[in-house]
Amino acid sequence: MSPTFPPSGGGHANWSPAPGHTRSEAYQADVQELLTRITPTPMSGHPSMDPETAKAEIAKRHREIMEILGLNLEDDSLSGTPDRVAKMYVDEIFRGLRNDEFPKITVVENKMRYDEMLIEVNITFNSTCEHHFLPIMGKAHVAYLCKGWVLGLSKFNRVVDFFAKRPQVQERATVQIHEALSQILRTDDVAVVVDALHCCVKTRGIGDEGTITRTSRLSGNFLSNPSLRTEFFSALPQPHTVHLI
Ligand SMILES: [Zn+2]
Repeated sequence: MSPTFPPSGGGHANWSPAPGHTRSEAYQADVQELLTRITPTPMSGHPSMDPETAKAEIAKRHREIMEILGLNLEDDSLSGTPDRVAKMYVDEIFRGLRNDEFPKITVVENKMRYDEMLIEVNITFNSTCEHHFLPIMGKAHVAYLCKGWVLGLSKFNRVVDFFAKRPQVQERATVQIHEALSQILRTDDVAVVVDALHCCVKTRGIGDEGTITRTSRLSGNFLSNPSLRTEFFSALPQPHTVHLI
């Protein structure tokens, strides 16, 4: 099946055992099911467009924008820009709009009986502000209380990256990452903090180079247990010490 752009949504399958497992020692995240339950990125609902058609349409319109700005599209430095921008949008910075780009994730049974908090800090991501289409550069910090299931560590990075590769506001990205991890790990005991530098604040408008925005989403024991909450936040780097660029 060819991928769609933008995503078609939908899907009804449940979590399923990984191939070769007859008992629930492992399961694979069903992406369609997972994404239908997550706070949506606002989409038009128009029929989906395949990636190559999307690139051609974006290039055509970007060429028009450049012409309106008075740029010479015959110049050899500028002539390839519409196609470059279109490819960058579809294949790179907005590829998270396509459900088929969600990482393949297998969650395995917690046979090692690890039952404490697991924290991953300084997950680097690059996103795009949906208000200005300028970069957001940030670090995500995620934690969960290990119970029945564990996730390969790099999968946290991949989930963060998937939602970063959309036009975003930081608040929604934080919620989407949290909701995805809660579903994948089948627990409410999940915490997500995002520190980010917004180029629309740094390079235009107010022009403040030093502003870092912190957002958080906590649930389960991270909300109800003050000492766990304190332990989590005290394990994080302070926002002003996070190297975002
Ligand atoms: Zn912005």
